[in-house]
Amino acid sequence: MKKYNFNAGPSILPREVIEQTAQACLDFDNSGLSLMEISHRAKNFQPIVDEAVALFKELLNIPEGYSVLFLGGGASLEFCMIPYNFLEKKAAYLNTGVWATKAEKEAKLFGEVVEIASSKDRNFTYIPRDFVIPTDADYLHITTNNTIYGTELREDLDSPIPLIADMSSDILSRPVDVSKYTMIYGGAQKNLAMAGLTFVIVKEDALGKVSRPIPTMLDYRTHVKKGSMFNTPPVVPIYSALMNLRYIKAHGGVEAMAKLAQQRADIIYNEIDRNKLFVGTAEKDSRSLMNITFVLNEEYKDLQEEFLAFATSKGMVGVKGHRDVGGFRASCYNAMSIEGCEALVKCMQEFEAMH
Ligand SMILES: *Cc1c(COP(=O)(O)O)cnc(C)c1O
Repeated sequence: MKKYNFNAGPSILPREVIEQTAQACLDFDNSGLSLMEISHRAKNFQPIVDEAVALFKELLNIPEGYSVLFLGGGASLEFCMIPYNFLEKKAAYLNTGVWATKAEKEAKLFGEVVEIASSKDRNFTYIPRDFVIPTDADYLHITTNNTIYGTELREDLDSPIPLIADMSSDILSRPVDVSKYTMIYGGAQKNLAMAGLTFVIVKEDALGKVSRPIPTMLDYRTHVKKGSMFNTPPVVPIYSALMNLRYIKAHGGVEAMAKLAQQRADIIYNEIDRNKLFVGTAEKDSRSLMNITFVLNEEYKDLQEEFLAFATSKGMVGVKGHRDVGGFRASCYNAMSIEGCEALVKCMQEFEAMH
């Protein structure tokens, strides 16, 4: 039976990206060696990093003066590196979920933190729109897509202070005006590559402004200067990222990805809104195109396990909602096909007919 992978992360990747990476793990570049057993400083590996950086810049139209870095440690290590590198006195955070809260928590170790707005009052079901950005803060941190709650800020904010965004789960799903950001970062395992890689897009002249000493590995300048090669980077995940960047380019770039994302989301949200059994959890104007969260209507609440079992029997994978939200979550990253979304909708319709 065909499986449809709706996992939130690590998550679906285009089949060809997986096959090409698997092939390179068997024999990299006709060298008779595996990608797993070569030096990151090998002559034929540097072009992999260079091309991945160049394609990232091309696909997102990244202006001059920004570096693209491939690091380890996940988005979670960035939560600490950001205040280390940018927080002198005070930082502003927009709290839209668990990940945003975790990012904010780390910043508190370094200085004053102002939470400019929070949607915690309604279990993070919306993106707050009413807030004032303090002009005396060193930066504003936002999470553009809230993977757990299925909310998304799908536009680029105008911020009077440096803007830093966690785009772990919506990077490369839409065009982004990178010039509005000082830094964009995320774990690669949602929409870019296999697990083990962190991407960072950082404006070079924004670095080096804090007075504290920064440990070498946690200082972005180290990685900018060494082109992500200060120490051993995650070699195989970088390769998988390159294969996916090539795939995105070959399939029309981020404009095409954005169109597809809208189509996929429309298919599933339309069914959620039509089907008497289900209700979406996120407010309509905050709905994520990447992570679609829904629960059973109050009167059908007891069918939770039954729907999960039914969907699983039809080939749906990873549709169980996060424990903080309950219900179901269909994560629809770039590689999710329209066919997959239609298959999920068919499940929901058949299940409705059964009840
Ligand atoms: C998954 C996720 C993270 C955590 O990423 P790690 O790479 O596991 O540290 C952070 N932010 C968002 C928005 C996420 O979806």
